[in-house]
Amino acid sequence: MNEAAGHSKFSVNERGFYGNYGGAYIPEMLYPNVKELEDNYLRIIGSESFQKEFRSLLKDYVGRPSPLYYAKRLSEKYETKIYLKREDLNHTGAHKINNTVGQILLAKELGKTRIIAETGAGQHGVATATVCALMGLECVVYMGAIDVVRQEPNVKRMLMLGATVIPAESGSKTLKDATNEAIRDWINNPVDTHYIIGSVVGPHPYPDLVARLQSVISEEILWQMMEKEGRDYPDAIIACVGGGSNAAGAFYHYLDNPKVELIAIEAAGLGVDTGETAATTKIGKPGVIHSSKTLLMQTEDGQIVEPYSISAGLDYPGIGPIHAHLFESGRGVFEAVTDEEAMQAGFEFCRLEGIIPAIETAHALAYLKKRKFGADQVVVINLSGRGDKDLATYIKWFEKQ
Ligand SMILES: *Cc1c(COP(=O)(O)O)cnc(C)c1O
Repeated sequence: MNEAAGHSKFSVNERGFYGNYGGAYIPEMLYPNVKELEDNYLRIIGSESFQKEFRSLLKDYVGRPSPLYYAKRLSEKYETKIYLKREDLNHTGAHKINNTVGQILLAKELGKTRIIAETGAGQHGVATATVCALMGLECVVYMGAIDVVRQEPNVKRMLMLGATVIPAESGSKTLKDATNEAIRDWINNPVDTHYIIGSVVGPHPYPDLVARLQSVISEEILWQMMEKEGRDYPDAIIACVGGGSNAAGAFYHYLDNPKVELIAIEAAGLGVDTGETAATTKIGKPGVIHSSKTLLMQTEDGQIVEPYSISAGLDYPGIGPIHAHLFESGRGVFEAVTDEEAMQAGFEFCRLEGIIPAIETAHALAYLKKRKFGADQVVVINLSGRGDKDLATYIKWFEKQ
């Protein structure tokens, strides 16, 4: 992959840190698992055989390259030049499959026969169950008991694909409890099991591994921009941030290009000051979550605060350490968008472009109302996923308006 970017001041250092953030704050019993991964991931994903199979699956199974589409009516409305990077057209409907395809190949190369994952909304669970079916590996997905009920269609998809879904009954019965169960499983099954994490979060080397696998997004934007605009960069890239994997993938090859403004959009929920929010950079403080030091929403005495967003994929109390670093260093612009703003933007976008965006993605689209770009500027919005999964939420929202 891009070796040069590996030496960027925004990529991970040899101790697993991005500036002040990252690392691997793991229980001792997890050390052998994480160490095995750390010792092998760069060699494996950089190898010719891995790259050949990864690229081949991205092309013929996922459907890459995803188009870079000039959105004419959206551009006219906002009086600037807007391109959409169409991750919504990938198999399973979002960017998450780029990562799970890569990690399943890595797991096979490490000799693993069993895959575990945690999932909140179920999107990462579906992407994991998909590649496990593809490779004939056992798949166990941990999911908070409350989420199992809330996200029933995705639970059915996972079961259909042959995965075992285990409800996490502890704590608040949501994503963080599912993560705890997955970590417990991994400690108990260190030899045959690989843990597929779904975003640029978790202990080093996961944030770097996932960012590298998702970097195919900006690798394609480079040549697609060249084809369409005669230069290989836009003036700005906008992406929504839950943990931050679609944003990290879309930013990756532009981290060291100061001409490109990198804009990350978090979910404000009902508003950043309401207590019902997931806008980590607005109210978060440094702390440790999922074995990584990063910004996170917490109480005075360091307990994790339950986040809130209408979008399940952005409903996370932290952000990946790379984003904490982009925020702190000023390289990234971080903004928060409310439920209301995102839903309106998603609705408008359907009618302007004939594309139903995921509610996560609608947060990125809403930024166009907050910021005026120049008529000759080129803006790329990463369309992280499609909105089929969100239809019921959209319809309920507009019925009560
Ligand atoms: C999961 C998800 C996200 C949020 O995850 P990131 O790791 O921040 O990219 C965003 N959009 C869609 C469509 C998702 O499924």
